Amino acid sequence: MDFTIISKETVLLNPLQDMQRRRVASEIRLDPLTGRSSRICHFMKLQWEKPDFAQLADRTAAGCPFCPERVTAITPCFPPEILPEGRLVSEDRVLFPNLAPYEALSAVAVMGAEHFIPMTRLAPERIAASFDLCLTFFRALQRANHPESVYHMINWNYMPPSGSSIIHPHLQVFAGSFAPNLMRLELSAAHAYRESHGSNYWDDLVAAERSAGGRYLGRIGRTSWLSAFAPMGIAGDLVAVVDDIHCTLELTPDDLANLALGLTRAMAAYDDMGIFSFNMNFFTGAAGDDHYRLHLVFSPRAYFNQALGTPDVGALQQLYREGVCMAFPEEINQRLKPRFSAER
Ligand SMILES: [Zn+2]
Repeated sequence: MDFTIISKETVLLNPLQDMQRRRVASEIRLDPLTGRSSRICHFMKLQWEKPDFAQLADRTAAGCPFCPERVTAITPCFPPEILPEGRLVSEDRVLFPNLAPYEALSAVAVMGAEHFIPMTRLAPERIAASFDLCLTFFRALQRANHPESVYHMINWNYMPPSGSSIIHPHLQVFAGSFAPNLMRLELSAAHAYRESHGSNYWDDLVAAERSAGGRYLGRIGRTSWLSAFAPMGIAGDLVAVVDDIHCTLELTPDDLANLALGLTRAMAAYDDMGIFSFNMNFFTGAAGDDHYRLHLVFSPRAYFNQALGTPDVGALQQLYREGVCMAFPEEINQRLKPRFSAER
């Protein structure tokens, strides 16, 4: 497996040291599967200040569409041919159609009654139960034989730096026959990889990272946790690969519990850096895509400048689709590893 690094060096005349030459190293890294590139550059200490959450929660609770007193009154229902119940309810969790759909089949899953749950108080049991509610929805689509029930995706934007406009914890849940950009790229690259190598890319990736160690985090059940070699996020990305399975609908209750547990370990580690926001996506094949492995990617998000509300995504990421990570993934891995060591 090729972990390609293109090393760069910038030379500056430093005015603070009599215009002496200062050399700044950076890297361009190529994702071993797709060739997608990321820059390890713009180095900074990965430490942020958290905002006043109590104030943020108070300010946004009134009128929150996902709080229990409003959620069933103002959210829509699915038509009976898709979901006879209209909405899915499990304890204090509710799944209903997204008023602003991203796909033909697009839902929101509210993860509980509580308006604001700090990242470190998101219990693995709550996360697993919320994922399970999404799977119940996907199974209903399968039963209905819906033609768009092909790729079953769960996305999570947690807190405003990640793109979320609602504080109340919720998941974006959708199914479609057309895979999103990067997932499509992975699907076709993984197919080509199996043709040329005779093996599954993610099986080889996990084996290579486990033996190299520098980006390996640990194993929980049959889920393997890694730091991404070529991350998209400024503070690195985590990848969790589930052995043996190709798609979301093959996840077992144990897998959901193990993925949820790993996510809470990642959240605890990033909370130590003052990060309070993240994106998380399921990457899934369609049924029978045995060149693929179900995996999820967790990407911590932060304001580049909190006082100004400057996002951590600029022109390089937005328009060139170039990842930017402000520390070496192997150094970030060292900070995350203690949280995962119990499972090793
Ligand atoms: Zn709320």
